[in-house]
Amino acid sequence: MKNPDELGYYGEFGGAFIPEMLYPNIQELQRNYQSILADEKFVCQYEDLLRNYVGRPSPLYFAQNLSEKKGAKIYLKREDLNHTGAHKINNAIGQVLMAKHLGKTRIIAETGAGQHGVATATACALLQLPCTVYMGEVDIERQNPNVQRMKMLGATVRPAQSGSKTLKDAVNEALQDWVQNAEDTFYVLGSAVGPHPYPDLVTRLQQIISKEAKNQYRSISGRDLPTHVIACLGGGSNAAGMFYHFIDEKSVELIGVEAAGLGINSGKSAATIQLGKIGVLHGSKSLLIQTEDGQVIEPHSISAGLDYPGIGPLHSYLATKGRLKVLGCTDDEALAAAYELTKVEGILPALESAHALAALNQLALKKEDEIIVCLSGRGDKDLATYIKNFEK
Ligand SMILES: *Cc1c(COP(=O)(O)O)cnc(C)c1O
Repeated sequence: MKNPDELGYYGEFGGAFIPEMLYPNIQELQRNYQSILADEKFVCQYEDLLRNYVGRPSPLYFAQNLSEKKGAKIYLKREDLNHTGAHKINNAIGQVLMAKHLGKTRIIAETGAGQHGVATATACALLQLPCTVYMGEVDIERQNPNVQRMKMLGATVRPAQSGSKTLKDAVNEALQDWVQNAEDTFYVLGSAVGPHPYPDLVTRLQQIISKEAKNQYRSISGRDLPTHVIACLGGGSNAAGMFYHFIDEKSVELIGVEAAGLGINSGKSAATIQLGKIGVLHGSKSLLIQTEDGQVIEPHSISAGLDYPGIGPLHSYLATKGRLKVLGCTDDEALAAAYELTKVEGILPALESAHALAALNQLALKKEDEIIVCLSGRGDKDLATYIKNFEK
């Protein structure tokens, strides 16, 4: 199952657990999102922007040097080459365009490290809608360049001052804003999480990744299907996009890579599927790292994009059904994989994407294996971390 049922469930995961005050907003979106996604005018505008603004299709690159090193054929889906440097723009432009089709005149969004905030502010500059981005006060201090970028793009950045003053508090404050401004405001959510229909909406806006990759793989390799497809798991949007058109192809092994942080059993990780139990976070039922009495545990990862205590319901479903294999890579393994790719292919990946690359070392690869790895973003944003950890 790659699409949820009418109520937004993938098996037992998903749904829409929201305060009553949000019903009108969510129901308006639930009623309309599929017809807008199928609307000819929407499709035309969206595809035009993906091609001429984002720069799609992104290449599928056969990484010869890396392949020789790893002893299997490795192809990289180059989402890092998109405008703004990651897959997030596919979703942000799609949702801002959807807001326009719904007649909304104001955009809000949450952001952790600022990547989704920048993508949304970019889409709002392009489509000329005012944009307010909620960001934890702690994150605002840590991620100053992205804060400045959002401001240059014309967005207002509102500090979230509640709780731990990080991503989950930014989500809560964005939702409060939405309740108060339901009439004119659209909430652009950044990953395949949240109440129905967001996980499905985000998945449908990201499925372009596997749609392209499947065709590109055929023409480059002359074969029908790869043996493995690998993506990192934060909230799960690049993985949902990378897996989507392979989910029904049973011969293809799907592998999701979580952030194991300082180690799976260190108490400092974001390995949600491996360590999580079922619970509700941000409006959706999924696996969640939590204490015995149901308190969310603060996640840790060296990569800000994977530093989330939950996971989209699609991935919880695929993993518990045995369709998705889940691995974990530590901070150090991700750093090593990033330096390796830079050195052997001349591509500096995002720290998130480096987790997917690091998983190659955990598989018993054979010469015949044909592997597509989603290179979800470029590493410029992580340069300070790379420099700090680089020896020799
Ligand atoms: C945000 C981000 C991720 C993690 O988010 P998903 O929704 O899990 O894809 C991964 N890679 C990059 C480059 C990101 O910016």
